[in-house]
Amino acid sequence: MKFGTKAVHAGVEPDPTTGAIMTPIYQTTTYVQESPAMHKGYAYARGANPTRNALQNSLAALENGKFAICFSSGMGATDAVIKLLSPGDEVITSHDLYGGSYRMFRHVFEKYGIKFHFVDLTNTGNVASLINNNTKLFWLETPTNPLMNIVDIQAYVELARGKNILVAIDNTFASPFLQNPLDLGADIVMHSVTKYIGGHSDVIMGALVVNNEKLHQKLHFIMNSCGAVPGPQDSFLVLRGIKTLHLRMERHCLNGRKIAEYLKGHPKVGKVYWPGFPDHPNHAVAKKQMKDFGGMISFTLRDNSMKKATKLMESVKIFSLAESLGGVESLINHPASMTHASIPKEERIKSGLVDSLIRLSIGVEDFEDLTADLEQALKKV
Ligand SMILES: *Cc1c(COP(=O)(O)O)cnc(C)c1O
Repeated sequence: MKFGTKAVHAGVEPDPTTGAIMTPIYQTTTYVQESPAMHKGYAYARGANPTRNALQNSLAALENGKFAICFSSGMGATDAVIKLLSPGDEVITSHDLYGGSYRMFRHVFEKYGIKFHFVDLTNTGNVASLINNNTKLFWLETPTNPLMNIVDIQAYVELARGKNILVAIDNTFASPFLQNPLDLGADIVMHSVTKYIGGHSDVIMGALVVNNEKLHQKLHFIMNSCGAVPGPQDSFLVLRGIKTLHLRMERHCLNGRKIAEYLKGHPKVGKVYWPGFPDHPNHAVAKKQMKDFGGMISFTLRDNSMKKATKLMESVKIFSLAESLGGVESLINHPASMTHASIPKEERIKSGLVDSLIRLSIGVEDFEDLTADLEQALKKV
């Protein structure tokens, strides 16, 4: 089955008791048993809920995986993966990681004796010398936030082969429409469902997708033991969002291309970061592992000033100044003072996060209106 058909149908069966075409919101904490431990597969709703199960089946299908587990947030899903590890284990991950993942690795899990190496993963040569018998996990993110670097998933699958190292991908920026890491040999896919999959800026949720049954059992055990599970109402909203994921992504990609090209030609704009440009340093890898290039774009002003960037962000009318991404509405964000403010200024600038860097999450509006909005705002700068 192709992606759009799966988005509409996968995981969802008419309700067995009524025939309702949409999976009902099973708002219940417990399930009546016929006889002790004799039940219909549902005992207590931390362990399982029919609305959540339908969503998990849909997500597994979209990532070409066998099993999916949903969590109450993307961070809850990431937390479960790190809990597979033991003190003394080492993780190799990216130096331009999602800020929340960096915070969790450094400030929650380091004190439990897990060691994290933060390196530039666009160069696989940086990694080989760090691998030792304690290395248990590669945690990759691609494209990265906000500089849109691309990491070669297959190269890390090759590097991990035969070494008992799990390869996990934070696939949030790409969405399952653009990139399917399990097909490339990865072990775990993580999504902040909050972003493109939910797609309507109204649900916080996370998910893991895997193919290996033993790995699924271990993660399910952590989910049920630690309890970061989502509710049935949120599961319903995400099931509804998924039905248009392919349509939304096509429009995000089209709008992304139009706006990236518009910005590149603008005299007041400096650098434009978007993996679809042939001169993007990892364009070839992006082309190999992604179906299209998405709707996330970052850019700087030629005259790199915080004041001018602020003026631009105050002047837009259709774009909303807000954190997050992946919804139907276009958002504008200032990493230096918003999402990445916790990184010390010197480190920030060294990695390209300059004062005038602006990140756009392009929505599904008409691109002519979005470019006109940017045009009027750039005029005021
Ligand atoms: C938002 C985000 C997360 C965290 O997900 P939440 O649902 O906010 O907990 C992780 N990784 C990336 C790339 C994200 O954008």
